[in-house]
Amino acid sequence: MAITDKIYVKNHRQLSSQLETNIPKGAFKGATLDMLFQGEGLEKLDDATRDRVLEFTEDFLDCECDNNPYCGCPERKFIQYLLDLRAQGLGPDAIVDVMTDDYMVYAYPGDVLSFLDSGVRTLEAAEHLANVDGAVDKRDEIRQEKQDLSR
Ligand SMILES: [Zn+2]
Repeated sequence: MAITDKIYVKNHRQLSSQLETNIPKGAFKGATLDMLFQGEGLEKLDDATRDRVLEFTEDFLDCECDNNPYCGCPERKFIQYLLDLRAQGLGPDAIVDVMTDDYMVYAYPGDVLSFLDSGVRTLEAAEHLANVDGAVDKRDEIRQEKQDLSR
């Protein structure tokens, strides 16, 4: 399962009752994305909640793809967001705190940790391949990314 399958809407029950509809708990579930994308009923939310929901929509659902929000961009952008937080030196607990502050979503720190670990392993494999191919620039670039991720 991808990390984006393990991102949940904070205060999910409260949000559902404000919206008067049942949205799934998973932030990247189709029905949740649909609701966000169509923006239906968002005026029913209190200000603080609506701001964060809109922020999420602007940051992750803003692409021009025909099949938005099912094009994969939202997931890709969210993963980039997680990697950026990691590159700023945040650990899994802090990353979860920040995503809750920013977008009212959360994950379990253990899931974030294994996501970051598997990211490092993927980069290690890529670094090895670049090395074998003699692609020195590429290898150094990957090595740098790996260092950003694992510090
Ligand atoms: Zn897209």
